[in-house]
Amino acid sequence: MGLVTTEGDIVKQGIRPFPTRELQDVVSQIAQGVQELVQDAGITLQQVMAVGVCAPGLVDQEHGIVNQAANFPTWSDAPLCKLLSDALGCPAYLENDASAAAIGEWWRASTSQPGGGVKHMALITLGTGVGGGLIVDGKLVAGMGMAGEVGHTIVDISDTARPCGCGQKGCLEQYASAPGIVASAKQALSEHPEAKSQLRPLLESNNLSCDKIFAAALGATDPTERDELAFSVVNRTCHILAQSILNLVRVLDSEIIVIGGGVSDAGAPFISLIQQHVDRMWWDIKRAHKLRIVQAQLGNAAGFMGAAKTALDRAC
Ligand SMILES: [Zn+2]
Repeated sequence: MGLVTTEGDIVKQGIRPFPTRELQDVVSQIAQGVQELVQDAGITLQQVMAVGVCAPGLVDQEHGIVNQAANFPTWSDAPLCKLLSDALGCPAYLENDASAAAIGEWWRASTSQPGGGVKHMALITLGTGVGGGLIVDGKLVAGMGMAGEVGHTIVDISDTARPCGCGQKGCLEQYASAPGIVASAKQALSEHPEAKSQLRPLLESNNLSCDKIFAAALGATDPTERDELAFSVVNRTCHILAQSILNLVRVLDSEIIVIGGGVSDAGAPFISLIQQHVDRMWWDIKRAHKLRIVQAQLGNAAGFMGAAKTALDRAC
């Protein structure tokens, strides 16, 4: 959680664990956390314009109600905003957590990019799954409630396309999430039994992970020491991601694509490789406009930043 100015600067931030998942306990913990942040910043609750909160699952933003959330199984149509507002004496507003992360990253991108004022952006989060959020004309696109499910756009229609938990086959999530990248490495190792790779002993000792694949692929300072099998896995992942990004941008004409989630911790070499594939495939009719691929900046702060921005916009 965090205390944020109207300009998007983080004044104070902290983490507050919930001892139980019961609604009233969670509300008390959040309220206490807000009071502590405010005190630490040397201001009073009266100076706080509004409280923004984000929650996973199905939320009713307009009425501030969490309809359903897998992590909070006892909640059913929980009036989170009313309870918070009563506890703190200031208005509270709600946003879905994935949407809040997109709004948060967009707010930061808008205030930190040269020239500022980003109006069209997409966030793609690469973690245990692949999620996303779309900002068009400075506003989050919600659709019927599920817009931005980039992870379940289809990137492989072949007979060998990987099945996805959503019921489709060949979803981006199966190739660009952390487990998807590990699956690609396992596949490459089994298809090339002759290839020497530092990933092979890692697989055999059950220690193969996404960050180790990236370290082997992009970590060597001397390119001749690069693990070619690991690099081919990461390079193909970036190619698939770039293809998905281009499809998205053909529809939305975004200015920047922000890559977040744990996989994006691979950092600048990873982002730059995606950018290279995007540039290589960029269409000729719009050479002047170069799509920028950037790494997410906020990490765990993205959710509360987006919730704060939602609250700010709705309170004004
Ligand atoms: Zn899927």
